[in-house]
Amino acid sequence: MGKTKSADSTLTSAASTLVTFAVAAAAGYVLYRNGEAWLRSWLLYLSRSALMRRMMTGFPPAWAVASRFIAGESVDDAIVAARQLNAKGMAVTLDYLGESVSRADEAVAARNQILFLLDRIQQNQVDAYVSVKLSQLGLKIDENLAIENLRAILTRAHEHNLRVRIDMEESALVDTTLDIYRRLRHGEGFDNVGVVIQSYLFRSEEDVRRLIEEGAWVRLVKGAYKEPHTVAYANKADTDAAFVRLAQMMLSAEARARGVSLGVATHDDAMIEAVQRYAASQGIPRDAFEFQFLYGIRRERQEQLVAQGYRVRIYVPYGTAWYPYFMRRLAERPANLWFFVANFFRA
Ligand SMILES: Cc1cc2nc3c(=O)[nH]c(=O)nc-3n(C[C@H](O)[C@H](O)[C@H](O)COP(=O)(O)OP(=O)(O)OC[C@H]3O[C@@H](n4cnc5c(N)ncnc54)[C@H](O)[C@@H]3O)c2cc1C
Repeated sequence: MGKTKSADSTLTSAASTLVTFAVAAAAGYVLYRNGEAWLRSWLLYLSRSALMRRMMTGFPPAWAVASRFIAGESVDDAIVAARQLNAKGMAVTLDYLGESVSRADEAVAARNQILFLLDRIQQNQVDAYVSVKLSQLGLKIDENLAIENLRAILTRAHEHNLRVRIDMEESALVDTTLDIYRRLRHGEGFDNVGVVIQSYLFRSEEDVRRLIEEGAWVRLVKGAYKEPHTVAYANKADTDAAFVRLAQMMLSAEARARGVSLGVATHDDAMIEAVQRYAASQGIPRDAFEFQFLYGIRRERQEQLVAQGYRVRIYVPYGTAWYPYFMRRLAERPANLWFFVANFFRA
């Protein structure tokens, strides 16, 4: 029995080594032949591969790099990270990692973990709210299951006076996500729920117009998924221009009068500075919106913004289902891929 186990783990480790070599070699080749845009799209493709997920999860060198972006595996790890960020003057969004579950019991287990997280936030009095993904709550199995799970989460959050943001996933889920958001926000009166808008989608300007009329609580991002050119801008310049346009719409006097509350979520100095310039030119106070960053990315910039009097919120993921989240971070900044490979050879 012991022998079989050790033979198994030697096999797994050999397979993981092979996969790392293969990924590094293939990444080098893709980059050499086609450039960074192809590498990004290839990493996003791999983020959906179940085989790669199995190979990478439980592979220590992969976790050593992923843990730059993830607070840890337990709720306690997340609360410790939140406390440390609060002490630096930053608010937090806690995210129990997981997405695209394929069984109802997994969706219910995720809901229970998130309910537990809400209780822990309240007991520890950390300045944090929670983000959820509808595909983690069962959206791809049964829409009603996801709604029931989200309703339970919003109810508990409301009891603790906490807020919940619905992360935005791939474009195929945007309509349903906004419908479910509206059903709970306006149909059932949960005023503690917010949504996310992705500037790379052509549709977002129209969505933002409607969300402004509704006085919504919105996080604006560029968008992290591999999308067809029929629905999303293919190049960074168009996505960036849309980001600035949408931020300005949601910071306008009309939007603020309607109660829109904006989270500007980007690591891009050009976006941050464009929003700062617009806010200054319109006399919008620095605390009328917030800048948001992902955990572990551009820590100095986060602290600098706090020192300048801006509100800053850090999105802190935790849990064992880190693979797709990690791959999207690699895709955003392929330089991290070389860090991953270097770390592997050091391990
Ligand atoms: C708080 C938060 C929540 C998010 N929620 C969602 C969501 O619900 N749905 C979704 O689709 N996406 C979400 N995202 C991801 C988002 O869509 C982008 O994929 C991600 O933020 C990368 O885009 P960017 O704006 O940072 O700029 P990019 O265009 O990726 O990068 C522009 C520049 O920013 C700087 N930069 C970027 N990353 C780094 C880094 N790691 N280190 C140093 N400099 C860097 C570099 O100068 C780079 O050239 C979220 C992002 C944040 C910050």
